[in-house]
Order: sequence, then C-alpha cells, then structure tokens
Amino acid sequence: MAAARQNGAGGAADLWMPGWSGTSYWLDGLAPPEVPHCDLPRKVDTLIVGSGYTGLNAAIEVARGGRSVLVLEAGAPGQGCSTRNGGQISTSIKPSLAALTARHGKARAEAIRGEGRAALAWIEERIGAEGIDCDFRRAGRFHAAHTPAAYEELARDAEVMRRTEGIEVEMIPRAEQRRELGTDAYHGAALFPSHAALNPARYLHGLLRSALAAGVQVMGHTPVTGIQAGAAGHEVRTAQGTLRARDVIVATNGYTDRAAPWQQRRVIPIGSYIIATEPLDRDVMDRLFPTDRIASDTCKVVYYYRASPDRTRILFGGRVSATETDTAVSGPRLHRDMCRIFPDLAQTRISHSWMGTVAYTFDELAHTGTHEGVHYAMGYCSSGVSMAGYLGMRMGQKVLGLAEGRTAFDDLPFPTRPFYTGRPWFLPAAVAWYRWRDTRQRERALAG
Ligand SMILES: Cc1cc2nc3c(=O)[nH]c(=O)nc-3n(C[C@H](O)[C@H](O)[C@H](O)COP(=O)(O)OP(=O)(O)OC[C@H]3O[C@@H](n4cnc5c(N)ncnc54)[C@H](O)[C@@H]3O)c2cc1C
Repeated sequence: MAAARQNGAGGAADLWMPGWSGTSYWLDGLAPPEVPHCDLPRKVDTLIVGSGYTGLNAAIEVARGGRSVLVLEAGAPGQGCSTRNGGQISTSIKPSLAALTARHGKARAEAIRGEGRAALAWIEERIGAEGIDCDFRRAGRFHAAHTPAAYEELARDAEVMRRTEGIEVEMIPRAEQRRELGTDAYHGAALFPSHAALNPARYLHGLLRSALAAGVQVMGHTPVTGIQAGAAGHEVRTAQGTLRARDVIVATNGYTDRAAPWQQRRVIPIGSYIIATEPLDRDVMDRLFPTDRIASDTCKVVYYYRASPDRTRILFGGRVSATETDTAVSGPRLHRDMCRIFPDLAQTRISHSWMGTVAYTFDELAHTGTHEGVHYAMGYCSSGVSMAGYLGMRMGQKVLGLAEGRTAFDDLPFPTRPFYTGRPWFLPAAVAWYRWRDTRQRERALAG
C-alpha cells in the first residue's frame, strides 16, 4: 500500500501533496494533553468504556458528583471519531417530526426532536463553561438540494419545521445560491442559521483536560474485553487485568465490539471518509465559501464540507465506496466529487485523507438506556458532535441518580435484526444502490 499512498492510488500522483498525511487534519501540530500514568485499580465507582465525546462528558459529570471514575480506551485517548469528524453541528435528529409521530406518538416525537435542539444549545454552553478554545461558531448550514424535487421537499419541510417546531430556516433558490456557496451544482438549498462549526480535536482535548482536572483517571491502550454483572456491581475484564465497578458506562459508538455484545447487535458500523485540500488562495476561498457556511446535501449518501477555521483549506467528506476502503483510495474519489461541485479545484491537491467509523441504527435514532445494569449511549447516525456529549452528560447525571438525567430517548426500543451480530453484510449493496440512485437523479436534473 505504501506505493499506492505515494502515488495517490492508481497513478494520480499530482492529486496528492508530497508527504500527504493519512491521519486527521485536526491533529496537525496539536499536542494532546498529558495524561498521567496510572495502574489499573482493583475497584472504582464508575468505569467508562471509550474516551470520545460520550465517554468524557459522562466522566466529567460523574467525577464532579464526587465519585471515582476510570475511563478505559482501547487506543490513544480520543482516538475514535471525536478527533476525526467534520466539526459540523446540526440538531442531530434525522427522522422528521411526522415520521417520529407515526412511530412514537406526538408527545414523544416532539420531545425527541426537542432533544436535538437542546443538544445544540448545550454544546455551546459546555464549551463556554469549560473555557475550551475550539473555534466554535454559529456558522449556519447550507443544506443543498441535489435535484429540483429535493428542493421542493426541503421547502415543504422548512414550512412545517417553522410552523410546528419554531425552527429558523430560510430557503435559498438556485438563482441566489452563489451568494452562499460558489457552485451551480445544486438546485437551491435550505439555510439553517443556528447550525454550528468547531474544531473537533480541540474540543476533545478540552474535554480531556476538564476530565483530568475533575479527578478522572484515563488509561489508553487498555481495551475492555468483557463486562459481567454481579451482586456487588460489575466485574470488568481488560487486557491488563480485572477490576470491579459499581456502575459501567459503554461509550463506544461505531467501535462497539464483543465487550458489549447486546449493543454491538444494535449498531451498524460505517466508515466515513474525508479529505483536506492544500492551502488555497484567499480569493478562491472567498469565492467558494463567501459566507463561511458549513455545507451538506440531500443525496442519500450525503456529502459534507466546509472551510477550515482559518479559511485556508476545504475539508470534504462523504461515503465514496460501497465497501470499506483505504484512505489512499477514498482520497481521489472524494477529490473527484469535490471537483464536480467546485470545478475550480481540479488542480488543487489533497494534503490529508482519513476516515473513522460512525454508528448507524436501524431506526436512524441515537439510543441511550441501561441494559443488564450497564448504561450506554450510542448510534448517532453520523451526527454526534453535539448529541454524543449531550447524552454522555445526561448518562452521567443518571449514574448520580439525578432526575435531569432522563431524556426523551430513554427506554425507546433499540431495534436489531434477526442474525445481525454487528457485521453489516447488507451495507455494500445498500450503499452501491443509493449512490447509483443519487448520481442518476443528479444527472437527470442537470440535463433537464
Ligand atoms: C470522518 C467523519 C466525519 C464526521 N463528521 C461529523 C460532523 O461533521 N458532525 C457530526 O455531528 N458528527 C460527525 N461525525 C460523527 C461523530 O464524530 C461521532 O458521532 C462522535 O464523535 C461519536 O463520539 P463517541 O464518543 O460516541 O465515539 P468515538 O469518538 O468514536 O469514541 C469511541 C471510543 O471507544 C473506544 N472503544 C471501543 N471499544 C472499546 C473497548 N472494548 N475498550 C476500550 N475502548 C473501546 C474506541 O477506541 C473509541 O476511541 C463524523 C465522523 C467521522 C468518522
């Protein structure tokens, strides 16, 4: 694979900057907080598996409630999606109010949608309260229609969201879209002014600092291999020995493994791929991102992109392959799709190409609850920057026995499928079909 990396896979050498990086752009030059060494204790009040937004926000809450807390992480602290994502923050609930009402009734549906807005408000407060320097900004989202029919649907949804949920949303017709995004590839967009952007790795490192300051112990490179409920709490097996914990929180999202088999059967791990471009001239950035919005589109296999916080590069993400692939392969494919939207970038090279594994669920909702005494929150369906931390924080409150820990997600059925064990054999066919359909719809719309 080394040769493919150097040549940018398939000989497209001029697509890549020399020495391009296969790790997250957000980690460039960012020194992680020093995590004090500790030995595995024999006993702890609360044991948390996973050190992303979910796990660390839970840890902060529980430790500040006076309990001893240990976070165990299979890799380096923060190594999952929480230092690799696009840094875009929406209201994080994929199903519409109508779809949720049909499934769960009006009151529950409204409450679930309300949690999405609460998570967006909460992350801004959290960042402010913890003093985390992570370029948080209410950038606004340009959610672009890939066909005229998609635009009509966005407009109908916008009207319903405004009327029934008080959500601020503005429709931008195609004739005006260049004032927001320098492209003619779309057929207008819905603009959500309250959606936000941040630097995800700086946010994660800020949380890690807060957790350590609150007395949380964090051990990297210590995978949990099994959790056994017992009369006096849980027995937790790790690669480095066994310990007892009164409460256990599973915060492993797309990396959930056999340590939590019940949860593993309920989440669908999917790779999300992203590139960063080399630095671009200021006038190009001003032309392509004149209002500095974050952007996404209505394709079923969605693209998401934005300018870097210093407005020197474009970060462009999506799912470009039916099966999981190497970032040397995904890079050129993302580049091709980026150039379809921004033809000006044909000569722009890739400086970083990386990926992470997100967790989808069978009902497109995040889930939190307690199974056999083990707390969990996961399944953010690739919209976890605010929701993961918010549900982590609520889970921490639950462990402390606080009433405010309850959420509208609690006790929702967490669906799985017969014979599904956590390996999504059905995914390549589904992704291939949806990508084919998106392309066909797009091409027809542009031809017509
Ligand atoms: C490329 C990409 C782009 C994305 N863009 C966005 C975006 O723009 N906006 C948005 O809202 N969301 C986005 N997401 C999703 C978002 O990053 C996640 O939803 C969020 O980070 C989940 O946080 P988490 O703490 O639950 O999981 P993670 O941050 O993934 O952390 C889980 C951790 O659990 C650890 N773990 C797993 N099993 C074990 C075990 N047995 N023992 C010990 N540790 C274990 C893993 O090593 C991992 O570090 C993106 C994701 C990716 C990959």
